[in-house]
Amino acid sequence: MELITLKDIKKIYSNRNNNTFALNGINLNIQQGELISIMGPSGSGKSTLLNVLGLIDTPTEGEYFFKGKSLKEIRKNKIHKTRNDMIGFVFQYFALLKDYTVLDNVVLPLTYRKLGHKERINKAKSYLEKVGLKEQVHKTPDELSGGQQQRVAIARALVGEPELILADEPTGNLDRRTGEEIINLLLQLNKEGKTIIVVTHDIEVAKKCNRIIELVDGKITQQFKNASIFSKT
Ligand code: ADP
Ligand code: ADP
Repeated sequence: MELITLKDIKKIYSNRNNNTFALNGINLNIQQGELISIMGPSGSGKSTLLNVLGLIDTPTEGEYFFKGKSLKEIRKNKIHKTRNDMIGFVFQYFALLKDYTVLDNVVLPLTYRKLGHKERINKAKSYLEKVGLKEQVHKTPDELSGGQQQRVAIARALVGEPELILADEPTGNLDRRTGEEIINLLLQLNKEGKTIIVVTHDIEVAKKCNRIIELVDGKITQQFKNASIFSKT
């Protein structure tokens, strides 16, 4: 089933002197259950594309369809609801709240859900257990390793039970082995049915995805399915 379609999406940043086409005519179709990587040089529009996909950024031109429905037909507060209910984000720098415990960081996205206090805590704990942090729930983020902090961020992205997980360089700040563990976790979540889109510079990460999208100057220049092109070399 089709999850997201982008039609000729442009994101233009206008300054006094010039326009930057961060995205310059993106056409993309994302099916439910896909595991996609977005690659490309610095400044090619990867983060912008992820933010547009995640409903954090609004495109300047073009049309965005979520499950076949154009966002133009969805009211703004409904768009916020779609983002909060359907999409989970994982960032390179974890973006955890330092003064909160691990558990509280993961409970936070459930604040606006119609759930009792106990249900929230239990849900957050179950996702922390899923990412292997059962013993760390009452610590603060700075008491954890980088890999553990990224796991907290993943638990936080998962707790709202989103259909789509967007990860911007989730291993960019981690050593190789810890990065692999995080990728294996994302692979496992994908096997369980989550749609995952990951921005990465790491070809080893990209190889594990069923589709690689390459961006250059705000345009999709190449797409590889099953990354088969890489296994030939
Ligand atoms: P990438 O993630 O591939 O490094 P980005 O999506 O961050 O690329 O940026 C794409 C282009 O848009 C770059 O030229 C960048 O400088 C520009 N850009 C990104 N965000 C802004 C902004 N808020 N204002 C102006 N230009 C921006
Ligand atoms: P808006 O300003 O469009 O009403 P919000 O107040 O919801 O949007 O969000 C303000 C900023 O917080 C956004 O521009 C975005 O950078 C960031 N943001 C919003 N939602 C999320 C999210 N789910 N994950 C990460 N960052 C978010």
